[in-house]
Amino acid sequence: LVGVEHSYKSKGGPVPALGPLDLRVDPGEFVVVVGPSGSGKSTFLRVVSGFEHPSGGAVRLLGRTPVPGRDVGVVFQQPRLFPWQSVGANIGTALRWAGVPRADRPQRIVELLDQVGLGALGPRRTWEISGGQQQRVAIARALAAQPRLLLMDEPFAALDAMTRERLQEDVRTLTDDGTRGVVFVTHSVDEAVFLASRIVVLTDRPGRIALDLPVPLPRGAGLSADELRGSAQ
Ligand code: ATP
Ligand code: MG
Repeated sequence: LVGVEHSYKSKGGPVPALGPLDLRVDPGEFVVVVGPSGSGKSTFLRVVSGFEHPSGGAVRLLGRTPVPGRDVGVVFQQPRLFPWQSVGANIGTALRWAGVPRADRPQRIVELLDQVGLGALGPRRTWEISGGQQQRVAIARALAAQPRLLLMDEPFAALDAMTRERLQEDVRTLTDDGTRGVVFVTHSVDEAVFLASRIVVLTDRPGRIALDLPVPLPRGAGLSADELRGSAQ
């Protein structure tokens, strides 16, 4: 992202929501974005995914403007599955949108369900599976087009603690092969520290980057215990 900013148009005039900010995300990076409510985290994801055209600046993915749903996968707080379709058909639809030939889709559906640990659930209806399983389907669907960038907006906020922990363990591995980057928004500091290879903190003045830190912190970053106590020279 270069000089990206965004204001929403509303009756009372433009609402500044983001930036201007510069940010570069490389493959293999797991960037967790935190910040107060209204600091522009969701706006940031909407602009990066291409769903919202920025009022200023430019978003580039491998030198091009990203195509929503194809270059960038998105997972929201609610799974937003198609209720009239089976689990497998939900993923099949995403594969069709991604331009995967019909003949290749059944095999890809199996692979994607395996990847999110749902091997046997393809024929089920979406209302016959748990919330955690639905969110896994949403992740499989977001991965259908093999996007180089996966965006997640508080995807586990509505899940119970145990389900959330299991999903965190699995999602953490998504950057391991170094082919894709993940940008993950959360309100949970625990979740941020567990998942991130880098934490970006937004402020609400509006949507500016206050901190951008690698995890674990390099030596010398942050304050030592002595410094915190105010006894350092
Ligand atoms: P939360 O943690 O509550 O999800 P957020 O960091 O995701 O907050 P955004 O939803 O990106 O924050 O909102 C950033 C700013 O843009 C806020 O001031 C918000 O009121 C405003 N905003 C968001 N969506 C719209 C919209 N569709 N129209 C007008 N203003 C909006
Ligand atoms: Mg939000």
